[in-house]
Amino acid sequence: MTGRTHLIVSTGITLSVLSLWGQPVTLPAAAAAVIGSLLPDIDEPNSLLLQKTLPKKLIHIVKILLALLGLGLIVYARLTAFYPPYSYMAGGLMIAACLVNHRLFRQLLMILLGGVLLYAAVTFEAGPWWATIGALLMVCAVLPHRGLTHTIYGAAIWGGLLYFASLMLSVPLWLAGGLSYTLHLLCDVLTKQGIQPFPPFSWKWKIPLMSTGKFSGFLVESICITITFVLMWNAFVKPMGVSAFVILQQLKDRMTGM
Ligand SMILES: [Zn+2]
Repeated sequence: MTGRTHLIVSTGITLSVLSLWGQPVTLPAAAAAVIGSLLPDIDEPNSLLLQKTLPKKLIHIVKILLALLGLGLIVYARLTAFYPPYSYMAGGLMIAACLVNHRLFRQLLMILLGGVLLYAAVTFEAGPWWATIGALLMVCAVLPHRGLTHTIYGAAIWGGLLYFASLMLSVPLWLAGGLSYTLHLLCDVLTKQGIQPFPPFSWKWKIPLMSTGKFSGFLVESICITITFVLMWNAFVKPMGVSAFVILQQLKDRMTGM
């Protein structure tokens, strides 16, 4: 299933269910639902979330800057005898890191970025968000695709993190984020690969109706999107129509009453 379909189906169904259930549909809840719908695929090199947060162009720029920095360090160490040979080694490592392939470099960058965020969160007591994002980045960078993120453990960890964030920020996030994440996993059950919900047990959940990019994929994704729109219609558009009808009726009553 494509990232776009996951985004529409998981977010749409989550917000509709919340609304039909009488829960408040707030902007933070919607944001948690959007992230939850894409987060399981963060361990996939072409995931929508990674493409948006770390696009190829940005990585190229970072690579060039890192190589220049490494070169600069070596030249500086040569001129001023700045901690040789460690400075040469560090400069060499920085240049070598730029030569690895795109995917590996992105993983290295995610680990580094995650580490910096974690360090900053602990040092400056920046709150749970930075630490959460940092830890997530580091964990996701080293996971194999459809590894931990496509399990019940992954959903529970995400739900748990959001639950504590909800308590700390006193905004309800975990229901929207957790439901959206779970819906992503359920959608992946419909694919040929399926998911392995409780590793190391090899038990698989799989209803192989579709393969992404094939006609079967187009068909199943279209059906899922249609169901989502029907739900959203019932949750958001219909109540608007009903309340408009009630207001009109009240107006009419008032006019005839006058
Ligand atoms: Zn997935």
